[in-house]
Amino acid sequence: MGTRKKVHTFVRVKPTDDFAHEMIKYGDDNKSIDIHLKKDTRRGVVNNQQTDWSFKLDGVLHNASQDLVYETVAKDVVAQALDGYNGTIMCYGQTGAGKTYTMTGTTENYKHRGILPRALQQVFRMIEERPTHAITVRVSYLEIYNESLFDLLSTLPYVGPSVTPMTIVENPQGVFIKGLSVHLTSQEEDAFSLLFEGETNRIIASHTMNKNSSRSHCIFTIYVEAHSRTLSDEKYITSKINLVDLAGSERLGKSGSEGRVLKEATYINKSLSFLEQAIIALGDQKREHIPFRQCKLTHALKDSLGGNCNMVLLTNIYGEAAQLEETLSSLRFASRMKLVTTEPAINEKYDAERMVKNLEKELALLKQELAIHDSLANRTLVNYDPMDEIQIAEINSQVRRYLEGTLDEIDIINLRQIQEVFNQFRVVLRPSTPPPKPVAFEDFKNERGSEINRIFKENKSILNERRKRASETTQRINAIKREMDVTKEALNFQKSLREKQGEYENKGLMIIDEEEFLLILKLKDLKKQYRTEYQDLRDLRAEIQYCQHLVDQCRHRLLTEFDIWYNESFFIPEDLQVALKPGGSIRPGMVPVSRIMSLGEDAQDKFSQLQQVLLPEGPDSVAFYNAKVKTEQKHNYLKTMMGLQQAHRK
Ligand code: ADP
Ligand code: MG
Repeated sequence: MGTRKKVHTFVRVKPTDDFAHEMIKYGDDNKSIDIHLKKDTRRGVVNNQQTDWSFKLDGVLHNASQDLVYETVAKDVVAQALDGYNGTIMCYGQTGAGKTYTMTGTTENYKHRGILPRALQQVFRMIEERPTHAITVRVSYLEIYNESLFDLLSTLPYVGPSVTPMTIVENPQGVFIKGLSVHLTSQEEDAFSLLFEGETNRIIASHTMNKNSSRSHCIFTIYVEAHSRTLSDEKYITSKINLVDLAGSERLGKSGSEGRVLKEATYINKSLSFLEQAIIALGDQKREHIPFRQCKLTHALKDSLGGNCNMVLLTNIYGEAAQLEETLSSLRFASRMKLVTTEPAINEKYDAERMVKNLEKELALLKQELAIHDSLANRTLVNYDPMDEIQIAEINSQVRRYLEGTLDEIDIINLRQIQEVFNQFRVVLRPSTPPPKPVAFEDFKNERGSEINRIFKENKSILNERRKRASETTQRINAIKREMDVTKEALNFQKSLREKQGEYENKGLMIIDEEEFLLILKLKDLKKQYRTEYQDLRDLRAEIQYCQHLVDQCRHRLLTEFDIWYNESFFIPEDLQVALKPGGSIRPGMVPVSRIMSLGEDAQDKFSQLQQVLLPEGPDSVAFYNAKVKTEQKHNYLKTMMGLQQAHRK
């Protein structure tokens, strides 16, 4: 576990009487295969740049029996599957090179049975050898033809035809094919029946659906789940053995195929090259994205390729010279796969139900243990169960008495009781968590602080009103000033005209014409207006300054009172709060409510009343009215302040 492994690659050469001894040579260790092409025999088959190739593999199987092939290729993978490692064995190669013979073998001759039946046999044999484990075996048989999924075991009476097409689904447990029937098999014979059923369907389908079985990928999967018979062991393992008979790898597309054949060829070529891409990407530790979803084959095998699996690629080749081009291409594929590394890991899972049962058992045991300790320590019967309301109330009362001083100490009984004592300390000492200040401030303004707040708001609105008036007055003054300038200019013009025409005097008085006279009167009037407005503005400014001061004082008062109220309400113990309440014995820093009430006269009302009464008397009354309001405000302010100071002194 955790160690990186290469994809194991083997080559199996199909027996032939016409073996190309001149061109195909094996290394002494049987782990390499050399291909040599004689220049004159190539004739465009292969370009003339290279005539020799050497492929390093994990083993070359020449004239090897089915038995030996299984021993070499599959035995370890299957054995490790029972320990929780996923395994995938794939046969790759051109049509007729022996993939199906290797995978399935002949169903007529036991001796020639292939990897599939042998794997099933090994699984059941190993189960027998492991009485300590309850191991279940399930199988499924999937065919992928032209990117469509077919269940080769759907003909079984209890399966029934599927209504919806099969889909590949991924979940945290792995990849599974929705709609593919998975069959529980309790013995070898059942498993063989399923295998034969699938093989028969494969052949029948090739006739009835007019599909060439060498053009499809077939995946026979053995699912193993092993639970320890020792009940205390809540871990269990799952694994899958995928035995894959791939579609013929020959490049059909080249030779001018059309129609169905071209379609098949395209799908096969694509899926095989996607398979290669996916496996290579898996071997690249820097790669984060593996293109599994490019085709059904790689998607269906997503959790069984590379990664944490044992992977074997068996390349089937012909030994004849005529097939050398495809043989070379197959060997190239094999040698590329050989470079890919995987990291086999156990698929370990936890049986939640068993885990709970085991924990319960352990808990009971520990309680017994505690009881023994208690009796040895001469302690009276101690209860370790969670506390009920009455017990909690009792602790609460103990804590209160302890705080009052009527109880000297609280006896320690057990951990749970200590925790509850602490908890009750918290409950008693912190009756409730104070509300956030902004929230409390809103409450305060509506209740205890409503009077101060009202005065504050009124002063603010008066201030705003004065500011608005000051701005209007300023605008008026500017307008008067502009008109004065224009009038002055006109007057100067008249004057210069008079001087040109020659002025004359009458009895020592300057004689001027009517127009000039009117202009002089207008200017005089404007100057008077200007002065009045200017005086108003100065008064307003003084008033604004005063109001501003008042507003600031009110705000400060409001916040101070709020702080006192907040502390009183949320941090001063209840009994002390009683003493602080109106009529109570103590009043630290509080404004007596009655005094605040004396400010109850609504300044805003007075303001509007005065406006009603005085304004009709003309603009001259404004100054009067202003002075009146100012006095009223000052009076109110002083009254408030005195009240507050008196309250403090008390
Ligand atoms: P593929 O599945 O690669 O298209 P097959 O497995 O169907 O090829 O093989 C084609 C034929 O060759 C079959 O009749 C098969 O029995 C036979 N054959 C293939 N390999 C061997 C072998 N190693 N020994 C004997 N017969 C073989
Ligand atoms: Mg085949």
